[in-house]
Amino acid sequence: MIQALLYAAVALAGLLAGVAVNVAADAVAGDEEPSWRAATCHKCGARLPAARLLPLVTLAGGRRACPACGARSSLRRPLLSLGVALALPLLLAHLQEMPGSGRLPLAAVFVIDAAVIGVLAFVFAVDLEHRLILDVSIYVPLLALVLVAVVADRKALAAMLFGVIVCGGLFLLLYGLGFLLYHEEALGFGDVKLAALLGVAVGWPAITTALVLGAVAGAAVSLLLLGLGTATRHSFIPFGIFLAAGAMVALLVAPPFW
Ligand SMILES: [Zn+2]
Repeated sequence: MIQALLYAAVALAGLLAGVAVNVAADAVAGDEEPSWRAATCHKCGARLPAARLLPLVTLAGGRRACPACGARSSLRRPLLSLGVALALPLLLAHLQEMPGSGRLPLAAVFVIDAAVIGVLAFVFAVDLEHRLILDVSIYVPLLALVLVAVVADRKALAAMLFGVIVCGGLFLLLYGLGFLLYHEEALGFGDVKLAALLGVAVGWPAITTALVLGAVAGAAVSLLLLGLGTATRHSFIPFGIFLAAGAMVALLVAPPFW
């Protein structure tokens, strides 16, 4: 009974966190106009009502219609809040199954990883919409995670450091290779910074799961878009969304390093 109440409370917290991530992502203004925005109608540009931020109610197509022109708005808001709402109970179940090192109480690891999932959902939404990875969404969580480790669990620093070397190093290498091969930025430097954050947030050895999942998802979606003809070899595919998604799933399936 207490377990059921706990899971219900966590799912509710997930829905609220999803709304907060949507509101934060809607407020982002990039250097350039994005090709679409979840907050406004992609067809006529009318601002969508704030009630559309309520979780779940806009999942049905008809409820996403623009009040001015009737065009359906993007699925980003409803899917993002649903995703975070599902991720938090799954995270709790995963940590109860695989509690990690036991150096920190389970509740603390849950709060840390739930916050990381919220940050990654924000990075996902902003990269998808603006093709941009904001510095603030990298450096603030990175610093916070290192601080938590320094204060409460110094042994976690080794897993973080090794995670950064493997994941950040790999992307730095790919970034350099892109320059050598194409003489232009084939991979955004934002992806390198995101890879460094993931190294700290997911840590060694779970970061390998995150990288494999991200690479498989990225390759599968790229091939699908190429096959459908909606992308060409020169299209920009925001790789950060796959990195962020792979890391979120890794947090839900791989043992925590804390
Ligand atoms: Zn419209």
